[in-house]
Amino acid sequence: MSKKAILVTGGGGFIGSHLCDRLLKDGHDVICVDNFYTGSKDNIRHLLAHPDFELIRHDITMPLFLEVDAIYNLACPASPVHYQNNPIHTTKTCVMGAINMLGIAQRLKIPILQSSTSEVYGNPLEHPQKEAYWGNVNCIGLRSCYDEGKRCAETLFFDYNRQCGVQIKVVRIFNTYGPRMLPNDGRVVSNFIVQALKNEDISIYGDGSQTRSFCYVADLVEGLVRMMDTPAEVTGPINLGNPGEFTMLELADLVIEMTGSKSRKVFRPLPQDDPTKRKPDITRAGEVLGWKPTIQLREGLQKTIDYFITRMK
Ligand code: UDP
Repeated sequence: MSKKAILVTGGGGFIGSHLCDRLLKDGHDVICVDNFYTGSKDNIRHLLAHPDFELIRHDITMPLFLEVDAIYNLACPASPVHYQNNPIHTTKTCVMGAINMLGIAQRLKIPILQSSTSEVYGNPLEHPQKEAYWGNVNCIGLRSCYDEGKRCAETLFFDYNRQCGVQIKVVRIFNTYGPRMLPNDGRVVSNFIVQALKNEDISIYGDGSQTRSFCYVADLVEGLVRMMDTPAEVTGPINLGNPGEFTMLELADLVIEMTGSKSRKVFRPLPQDDPTKRKPDITRAGEVLGWKPTIQLREGLQKTIDYFITRMK
């Protein structure tokens, strides 16, 4: 393997920081770009003294010029609570960030991987979701800044590919969890674990019958790296996620059981446009990347619970 200089935007985030760890372990130079809006220096503090790691505090909505061999574009708040906090900036991050990063890839003739999302399927009418499904997305709702931002980013990636020959790699990431999620992230796995560990009420939105499919972060990172290593003609989009499907009530019960918590389940209003079900079809990832998740929910939850126990001490 030849040593490459690899740019990871959002490298201070939950998934990004695990990707930085992995790329350094593989012997690469890593340039981490983050504006620390939802990313955290704590996620990469252990890397700051690493000789092959560089950190640039930068917002990718602004132009950036540097010389690298590949780009992973992960920068964007991904939790509904955070991406809805400054929705205009979320759209800017998705769209202007994509334009700025694609510009680097075009100039340097290097591959660029886009972290797209299962949110491009919106509230899906097909189940499970295949890449060929065009989605069911509200363009004027509270989630639209993220959903439509990410959809527009995919459009830009494919147009830069067709019009300018940029080597693109688009992956659609389904719900991912693991150590380094923020305790106040607002997402269901971190919320339930933090609430259970504090013996506080577990907040079930709606009646808890909606489903999600949860992928452990190490599996996801393996999929990202495999995607980057594919031949130039492989553009995606490719779903990355764990097809194990759970209702939020099932997840709550599992977290309560595994933490031995005294928490009670309480019901709160369902957020607007909350998808009723979500499960990836990962046939394409299997065929193209030889990838499938290896860590099932119980095992991954245990690692995540252990992380939050240490963090909350
Ligand atoms: N959810 C919940 N309680 C929480 C947080 C989320 O019941 O404290 C539900 C939410 O309504 C959604 C699912 O869990 O149906 C996943 O939400 P999350 O914010 O983790 O991610 P999403 O998949 O909606 O982007």
